[in-house]
Amino acid sequence: MRNVDAGIEAADVVIVGSGFGGLAAAKQLNKSGVDYVLISSTPEHLFQPLLYQVATGVLPAADIAPPIAQVLRRHQGADVRLGKVVEIDADAAVLTYETEQGARKIRYGSLIAATGANQSYFGRDDFAEKTYSLKTIDDAQRLRAQIERVFAEAAGADQQTRERLLSFVVVGAGPTGVEVAGQLKELAKRYYHQEISVALVEGAGAVLPPFGGSLSEYARESLTRNGVEVLLDTFVTDIDDGKVTVKTKDGVERGIAAETVVWSAGVAAGGFAGLLAEATGCETDRAGRLLINQDCTVGGHADIYAIGDMTSLNGYPGQSPTAMQEGRHVADIIRRKKQPGTPFVYWDKGSMAVISRFSAVTKVSDKLKFTGVIAWTAWLAVHLFYLVGFRNRFIAVASWLVAFIGTGRPGFAETEKVAAAPAAEQRQAA
Ligand SMILES: Cc1cc2nc3c(=O)[nH]c(=O)nc-3n(C[C@H](O)[C@H](O)[C@H](O)COP(=O)(O)OP(=O)(O)OC[C@H]3O[C@@H](n4cnc5c(N)ncnc54)[C@H](O)[C@@H]3O)c2cc1C
Repeated sequence: MRNVDAGIEAADVVIVGSGFGGLAAAKQLNKSGVDYVLISSTPEHLFQPLLYQVATGVLPAADIAPPIAQVLRRHQGADVRLGKVVEIDADAAVLTYETEQGARKIRYGSLIAATGANQSYFGRDDFAEKTYSLKTIDDAQRLRAQIERVFAEAAGADQQTRERLLSFVVVGAGPTGVEVAGQLKELAKRYYHQEISVALVEGAGAVLPPFGGSLSEYARESLTRNGVEVLLDTFVTDIDDGKVTVKTKDGVERGIAAETVVWSAGVAAGGFAGLLAEATGCETDRAGRLLINQDCTVGGHADIYAIGDMTSLNGYPGQSPTAMQEGRHVADIIRRKKQPGTPFVYWDKGSMAVISRFSAVTKVSDKLKFTGVIAWTAWLAVHLFYLVGFRNRFIAVASWLVAFIGTGRPGFAETEKVAAAPAAEQRQAA
């Protein structure tokens, strides 16, 4: 680290973001002993695919969110900082980031931006105040607190109040929505021994739309068998206290009781992606994702790379393998293992989604697909493999045995408790 002029430090490589993309890039740079500064607005490396298990008490929060400084502690050249990047001067190659001690500036030789994406409410930002999302560890803890609250209050209530309290609507039947809906039913049946209503609302004509065909159909049937009401070709038009209004493609409108609404429909890249677009002239798609070049550089700037969920390239999926592979690719260019300008090519190893205990779908290719226990076991194995830290893997296996073979929920024993209100409501109250 050098101080080049008053108040501006300099680093050869700056990574922004401690998610899948940022971590993969850091690990790859470390292989060649390249020094880097990693700035992230959150202190942890969050394993988002397991957020739903934190929300439903399967896993304690700490196990899917180890501090990034601890994950990278063996990297000699790592300098990890907590801060939010709020400005970029792309011509001067200087970032401004806010810390608890105030604003700081840093000049980069190469920049790797990996700041992910946020929830999208498709123009209805007021829905954020009325729903629970699953993007951050705080989101998962808030939803878990809400689940614990409604079940606790329902336990001693009359039937009408109980039915009201135990009504859930999940919006979006992608992997997260399907996992949450399936897991809620299982939680009610095997842990709380209560009847609940869960409606899964999806605007497209299939559950798990990217899977399609027989796998989508398997997921729909499996959810329905578990008692989830699956509403396809249906859009949420309004959310009031205790009620969600939906409208079908054919224009039929109805209200559904919903004490708890979980929103998992769509993503939008804002924040740093927007700043980068403005600073570099890089175009964005409708979701605000940067339309990066084939080598993951941004606009005409050979020293700025953007990767993962904040970007869109060749229709590659907005999933962790894309972010990790792009992270390794740009790190390889920076450490001179690949020529500058080398196009990134995504290696599709397949997709998987869990529906409930012993039930999942896995698509390796159009010809190679699995469902049921085999797919579910494969899902657990793959997620265990990528979960960071030996201790966390050990705890995950122990927790899965308790929750899936037994009927316990180790996550509910976690001592750190948060209030149950949705994130936006809490922000307003603060
Ligand atoms: C609930 C859920 C379930 C998922 N399940 C799966 C799954 O089963 N399989 C799969 O492959 N993918 C899954 N995904 C998608 C996967 O998690 C993402 O594709 C992946 O996290 C993208 O990695 P990323 O590095 O681009 O961004 P993220 O992992 O989101 O990391 C972004 C980082 O940037 C930081 N940051 C943001 N803004 C700033 C700023 N201005 N300054 C500094 N730091 C900033 C954040 O703190 C964070 O550390 C899931 C996602 C969610 C939300």
